[in-house]
Amino acid sequence: MLPLSFGKTLLRIAGSRTAAILAICVLTTLAITLTVAQKVMDHEKTAALDVHARSVLDHAGHVAEQSASILRKALQLDTVPCSREDLEQLRVLSFESRFVRDVMRLEGATVACSAAWGRMKQPFPLPVAHHGIAPYRFWRDVNTSPVGHVRADITAHGAVAVVTAPGAFDDAGLADPHIKTLVTSRDGRYVFRSFGGAEFSTSGHAATTGRYVVSHCHPQRLICVVESSPQMWLWSVSWPLLVALTGLGTLAGAGVGITVNSLVRRRAAMGTQLQRAIEHGAIRVVYQPIRMLKDRRLVGVEALARWTDATGQNIPPDQFIPLAEELGLLDALTRSVLRTTFSELGERLRSDEPFYVSVNVNSEEIISRQFRSYLHGLCLEHRIPASRVALEVTERSTANYADLTAAFQEMRDAGHRVMIDDFGTGYSNFAYLAALPLDAIKMDRAFTRAIGTESLASAVIPGIVSIATAMRVTLIVEGIETEAQAQYLRTLHPEARGQGWLLGRPATARELPAD
Ligand code: C2E
Ligand code: MG
Ligand code: MG
Repeated sequence: MLPLSFGKTLLRIAGSRTAAILAICVLTTLAITLTVAQKVMDHEKTAALDVHARSVLDHAGHVAEQSASILRKALQLDTVPCSREDLEQLRVLSFESRFVRDVMRLEGATVACSAAWGRMKQPFPLPVAHHGIAPYRFWRDVNTSPVGHVRADITAHGAVAVVTAPGAFDDAGLADPHIKTLVTSRDGRYVFRSFGGAEFSTSGHAATTGRYVVSHCHPQRLICVVESSPQMWLWSVSWPLLVALTGLGTLAGAGVGITVNSLVRRRAAMGTQLQRAIEHGAIRVVYQPIRMLKDRRLVGVEALARWTDATGQNIPPDQFIPLAEELGLLDALTRSVLRTTFSELGERLRSDEPFYVSVNVNSEEIISRQFRSYLHGLCLEHRIPASRVALEVTERSTANYADLTAAFQEMRDAGHRVMIDDFGTGYSNFAYLAALPLDAIKMDRAFTRAIGTESLASAVIPGIVSIATAMRVTLIVEGIETEAQAQYLRTLHPEARGQGWLLGRPATARELPAD
């Protein structure tokens, strides 16, 4: 009865975890899909607005250019102002541009005559100009007729002025009611024209509100165009598109969820299997030779853990070591590696030849008193001198410096050798390392691989050799695969030791060469 209810509980836990993973993945993927689609749409809307604003600016540029040209020509006329001849000339000029409705001559603050109305019978006053950008003055939406009210914009240059045709922007593509457009002065303080309900009275900078905003200024004229349009949401654009995207996002999310779930399950199963393998002594150990570079003499080996899972697949240490670390199984694994190594290589390690084995440990282990006493006991039990057992600690370890120094010293006092593994890939600097009580540094194989290339890693090698010499520690070079690499390193440091495919692949205790 008890195992049955236990099984049910397990199933329920596993089931709810699967549901949670699926829900998280579906929701996340859905959110990402819809956000990306919205961003794409926002981008397209802004791009379309950009094109529109440029075309309006182009049009505004023509209006300004033609008005300026007519004003210039009117100023250059050598006719008597407001004479018959002069009015004829002004009339001719007023027909030069369809953007200009009338050309006026001003006397102080009043209109003296114009191409359209001739000489004024009554003085026709203009209000104070609304804005000025030397040499021009501007009026916006003022009465331009001596009879009745015909409102339009006026631009004056000295004593001449042009009346802008109210329909000057009729064919500028401003029909879209969603787009608010302002034609402003370059400093944004004066709005010449406003379309689509954009605020007329305030300045160009503040007047356009909306989700999408673009602005462009004319390269020659002192005018700019600011445009905005309101936020367009996916669902307001197309329901079918939204439904399709939601369906796609959900499907993709479910796919991701199933994959993640199977990975999580696999990892959990792998953890259980690894634990069993460690408990049953199923972690095997292979040994990779370490040789003097100058005469290729075998000086020692590195013990490397190997694990074959229940399906017969070889899992690389780069996968199962971090997993063991994560599950708190590393200490048990290291002890298993030590026991196997001592029983497989015990005879050789007890003999007279100066042959050693180095074992990988992490910084937490070397700092742990229990681990150190376990190693001591194991050495005694197998009658193996401590000097034949080296410990490799990776440079990436994050342990407290003082603790590490004390632990290294204690290990060395006990007779072990202590080495920094994968040297050059971690955070250590020379000052940090120089103060650590060390016997050897193992230069990471990334540097060896770079030999003969132009890379920075290759340029650093002589520096690492100098560090080893200055620290008076042994240099062991990892990952030697070619004769050229071995030759280069031997020349650089004749006393260096090497490890790599060229000098010997990891082998079982039985296959290990005698020298
Ligand atoms: P490591 O301690 O730096 O060990 C050297 C690694 O480089 C080994 O990989 C070895 O097979 C590989 N190697 C040796 N020579 C060459 C070469 O010429 N070329 C190339 N490309 N590779 C070479 P392995 O056995 O896969 O181990 C990977 C890492 O897993 C080890 O790096 C070590 O950090 C960790 N590891 C292995 N066994 C143990 C263990 O028992 N305990 C702990 N804590 N870590 C271990
Ligand atoms: Mg190592
Ligand atoms: Mg290494």
